[in-house]
Amino acid sequence: MKVALVTGGSRGIGRATAILLAEQGYRVAVNYLNNAQAAQKVVNEITARGSQAIAIQADIADEQQVVAMFTQIARELGPLTALVNNAGILFTQSTIENLTAERINQVMSTNVTGYFLCCREAVKVMSKKHGGQGGGIVNVSSAASRLGAPGEYIDYAASKGAVDTLTTGLSLEVAPYGIRVNCVRPGLIYTEIHASGGEPDRVDRLKANLPMQRGGEPEEVAEAIAWLLSDSASYVTGSFIDLAGGR
Ligand code: NAP
Repeated sequence: MKVALVTGGSRGIGRATAILLAEQGYRVAVNYLNNAQAAQKVVNEITARGSQAIAIQADIADEQQVVAMFTQIARELGPLTALVNNAGILFTQSTIENLTAERINQVMSTNVTGYFLCCREAVKVMSKKHGGQGGGIVNVSSAASRLGAPGEYIDYAASKGAVDTLTTGLSLEVAPYGIRVNCVRPGLIYTEIHASGGEPDRVDRLKANLPMQRGGEPEEVAEAIAWLLSDSASYVTGSFIDLAGGR
């Protein structure tokens, strides 16, 4: 049985990924932070099509909540085979003069520490070193890790740089134990994250600068994530797929 956890599965890229993985036969844990209604909607959409899903409220930046989430998944869905580390945050667009320690630490806690904690718990379940069956991890980074997000949120971009390095290091560390670790780096995708940055229509403002001259859909990112987790990608680890319209 294939069992997946999608962190931040209630909205945006996570939502599209949870729905696609369910279509592909996974039992899916839909993690969220605040928006219980959105998470339940995703679960309802999945169960209406005859697949199994549960919503789990947990802050990925909180170690105890992460451990409790993995315990619940093991109990209700079975041993985890796939982790999509997707939940991520950014704050209002700003140059460095206005970045506070509090803000930077908050971004790092969710986007970096949260990813580490979920990887740690997933490895404990999946690793053949611990009697597991192996599995797959996909980290959702960002084109910002390459581009730096100047004038917008270099704190966020730097957190995604850490996600890239986490992917490389962990992929090498757990390759002998049956776990593949890969990464997707979306560019401008139509989701609500841009409203968190203070500019809901950011994708439409910037899309003309892209070689493909359009924003991307969450479903287009979900396809790459699902492929990286699938047996079709059985020899792929430590790899990065850029989904950024050519930039
Ligand atoms: P989004 O629409 O803003 O959704 C964010 C999701 O993360 C929500 O499900 C939210 O839960 C959840 N979340 C936030 N903080 C959390 C926490 N501490 N613990 C658990 N869940 C938490 O974001 P998105 O655009 O789909 O982004 C998903 C990932 O893609 C992020 O890592 C982001 O950095 C990356 N990305 C996005 C773009 C883009 O253009 N959209 C580009 C590059 C990379 P609630 O619903 O409960 O709030």
